[in-house]
Amino acid sequence: MLLTKDILDEKDSRLREISKEVTFPLTEEDHKTIDTMIQYLHDSQIEELSEKYNLRPGMGLSAIQLGIPKRYFVVVNELTGPDDEEKEFENYIIINPKIISNSVEKIYVDEGEGCLSVNRPVEGIVPRYARVTLEAYDMDGNKVQIRGREDLAICFQHEIDHLNGILFTDHIDPKNPYKGKDQMRGI
Ligand code: ZN
Repeated sequence: MLLTKDILDEKDSRLREISKEVTFPLTEEDHKTIDTMIQYLHDSQIEELSEKYNLRPGMGLSAIQLGIPKRYFVVVNELTGPDDEEKEFENYIIINPKIISNSVEKIYVDEGEGCLSVNRPVEGIVPRYARVTLEAYDMDGNKVQIRGREDLAICFQHEIDHLNGILFTDHIDPKNPYKGKDQMRGI
């Protein structure tokens, strides 16, 4: 089982590596890693499990955050609202992604973006496209197009940054952490 302590912290220089394209078929190891990553994100969003195993909640995780420099990430997106009794999720496994189109509109996370590798409060906002379309590969090596909007779009952009050695904190100017806020929409 993957635990929060197994996820690399921002001080680890491996997070600055540019991850390499994945070749198909995926290795047995990649399959296992993907399963473990999805399990972590799923459990971390279920209060009872996140408390039991002390899992910091997260929505996306890139292979490099486990020290694996390969261009893939997973996202576990909650579909249910706050009043639903049982949570439902959709999983994304995104391999060798490229953003092929994006909205003009930009958004940011009101309370600030979070990252399982950044274990400190960070002041400021990160401008992100409100909508993106990715071209990527599924686990069988088929080319797919995936659209994301709002928080899912932000998550995709955040994870693609990881594949390029970029952390969300890099986008924030400490001297002006809310730069451009008036020209964007907070979510
Ligand atoms: Zn992150």
